[in-house]
Amino acid sequence: MEFDTIAAISTPMGEGAIAIVRLSGEEAVEIASRIYKGKNLREVPSHTIHYGHIIDPDTKEVVEEVMVTVMRGPKTFTREDVIEINCHGGLVSVNRVLQLVITNGARLAEPGEFTKRAFLNGRIDLSQAEAVMDLIRAKTDRAMNVAIGQMEGRLSTLINRLRQELLETLAHIEVNIDYPEYDDVEEMTHRVLIEKATAVRDEINKLLDTSSQGKILREGLSTVIIGRPNVGKSSLLNSLVHENKAIVTDIPGTTRDVIEEYVNVKGVPLRLVDTAGIRETEDLVERIGVERSREVLKKADLILLVLNFSEDVTEEDERLFEAVIGMDMIVIINKTDLPQKINMERVKELAGNSPIVTTSLLEEKGVDDLENAISSLFFTGALEASDLTYVSNSRHIALLTQAKRTIEDAISGIESDLPIDMVQIDLTRTWELLGEIIGDAVHESLINQLFSQFCLGK
Ligand code: GDP
Ligand code: ZN
Repeated sequence: MEFDTIAAISTPMGEGAIAIVRLSGEEAVEIASRIYKGKNLREVPSHTIHYGHIIDPDTKEVVEEVMVTVMRGPKTFTREDVIEINCHGGLVSVNRVLQLVITNGARLAEPGEFTKRAFLNGRIDLSQAEAVMDLIRAKTDRAMNVAIGQMEGRLSTLINRLRQELLETLAHIEVNIDYPEYDDVEEMTHRVLIEKATAVRDEINKLLDTSSQGKILREGLSTVIIGRPNVGKSSLLNSLVHENKAIVTDIPGTTRDVIEEYVNVKGVPLRLVDTAGIRETEDLVERIGVERSREVLKKADLILLVLNFSEDVTEEDERLFEAVIGMDMIVIINKTDLPQKINMERVKELAGNSPIVTTSLLEEKGVDDLENAISSLFFTGALEASDLTYVSNSRHIALLTQAKRTIEDAISGIESDLPIDMVQIDLTRTWELLGEIIGDAVHESLINQLFSQFCLGK
């Protein structure tokens, strides 16, 4: 495939002091040479970096001191010739370099166009491309690891294997249909068919199981603060929001009856779910009723249960403990600046295995302990298995869910002795659906829609 040469500012992750103008395409080296003073870039070996200056060819004015990396295709991210101009100056000079690149023959890249090229040139598959997109959006380091893992192709490898198994199964069926008299071809007995189809279904289920964890990483752990009126729930919410960088979210759906604040607590993305009830009437149960509050609680990934240090545990406290039995929870005993009235032994009994943290939100004490408790709960617990393949992309989840349905149709078809070509249809459909995850058999519009979500310069 041949494309024109594109360029964009490709600011590295973490917003370093260096900004990069990246070019990709057949003319990349030529265009860079026109505005670069130093070694002859047309003659330098590939994958080398060179010190020099960017000059305006019209005025001969020196614009910027730079390091230029020359990388010739196909061993580049896009498989095309790639030039990276590392600028040390601020945003203004980077923009000037970009302007010069464009007036000298490059076209400004569309969002995600570099990654799109990598995909179209066969460098990466669609799930890897989406992982790049997740990486750009990654809100925490942990979420980034998931994105990188995916980019390395874990998911693709697994999906490819499943598709291969389906294909082999289909081939066997085909041979049995076409050459029923052949003895040496292993007969696709029901037993073998069911075995194969069940194995595929189990793998799909396993992937779907990880999706709730994957989702957590992307959208934040749904966290609900509960406690009697006046124990300090609002104060806790405020200090968590104010002490941590609020995460700007692109997740729609905040028109619900709950207020959501996104914060990054020591690498754990939290979606602090504050029902209007918690804020206004101070009592979730009272405001939205027992049933609704159960629902909100049930959906929570983490419960922060607040108690008052200067009052003893009440029946209402005990009811709250009962309501969240079995859930991930941290017990917070607040107002330690006041005289102790709480019975710690009783709290320990009620808390069971859940961590207990003491705070004085008034004196801003203990919040760090709480944050550490949150972080260790999730990084030493459920999410620690970093060798898992996480599925965190809602499109992937939707496709896997469909694939699960079609493979289950196939299985029940086999079990109820449906004609084999009916089973074939379901197996083929499963194969196609899995293919869509890695970008096989997707149509153009989907590709465009996906890539337009990318940030500029990637
Ligand atoms: P909520 O009803 O559970 O949301 O509790 P609030 O956060 O609204 O706090 C109730 C009252 O307790 C407010 O007057 C807070 O200033 C006060 N408060 C919160 N945390 C502490 C604390 O650690 N010590 C003391 N002495 N007062 C606190
Ligand atoms: Zn409150």
